[in-house]
Amino acid sequence: MPVSRISGSGPIYNLHSDDTTFGPFSQVILATPAPISASILPRTRGFLPIRKALKTFRYVPVLVVTHTDPSFIPTAPSLQRDLHFQRCIQSPQAKSCKGMVESTHILHYRSPYLRSSQAFQTTNPLRLPRKETILSQTWFERYLPSLESVRMTREIFSELAQGREGIWFVGSWLGEGIPLLEGCVESAEGVVERMMSHVV
Ligand SMILES: Cc1cc2nc3c(=O)[nH]c(=O)nc-3n(C[C@H](O)[C@H](O)[C@H](O)COP(=O)(O)OP(=O)(O)OC[C@H]3O[C@@H](n4cnc5c(N)ncnc54)[C@H](O)[C@@H]3O)c2cc1C
Repeated sequence: MPVSRISGSGPIYNLHSDDTTFGPFSQVILATPAPISASILPRTRGFLPIRKALKTFRYVPVLVVTHTDPSFIPTAPSLQRDLHFQRCIQSPQAKSCKGMVESTHILHYRSPYLRSSQAFQTTNPLRLPRKETILSQTWFERYLPSLESVRMTREIFSELAQGREGIWFVGSWLGEGIPLLEGCVESAEGVVERMMSHVV
């Protein structure tokens, strides 16, 4: 049930969805993507700079296709690795893929359990696998770091914004480097440690 807004001010908050209200809570941890967090934060003056900072975190759509089409990896087994990258080669037919890089993960490369399936996962495909080989395809939104958003992470979200009036932030967009699950764990641990230091 998506939360559409948070009302109140520290230390009493209520969370609202389209048809339900949850609360009251004295502490709220937002594990939502940065733009969603910006849209649901309380509309009080104190959160204005945080909402502005959250808006510098841009997300891009990413298509992921799981398939069994071997034409996405080299045919020679000696050239096969976990991950294969393919840059867009400019041609009149491929103008729209300028700057794009596709990656194909051989899912069975290190897993004996998957070896018989010969399955691949291609992210940002420059062309689609053959239709009959597609097992699933999904669009995701992924955080794309920029110099500005990395600066915001360091200057605002590592300390200043955390726990301010009882609102906390966690997610991959707060981790160092490439946005991965590691960043979620790292930021969640940071929040727990800071919360505990307030309690003890
Ligand atoms: C295709 C793909 C493959 C990946 N593979 C890997 C991998 O192999 N290893 C790895 O480490 N990382 C991988 N990642 C990256 C990793 O999945 C993400 O970095 C991570 O999931 C981001 O976590 P997050 O908590 O920041 O955001 P999310 O996982 O996006 O979590 C945000 C949550 O907020 C919820 N939400 C959104 N809006 C609202 C709302 N209004 N109210 C309430 N809830 C809301 C969403 O439902 C979601 O559960 C992959 C990402 C993609 C897209």
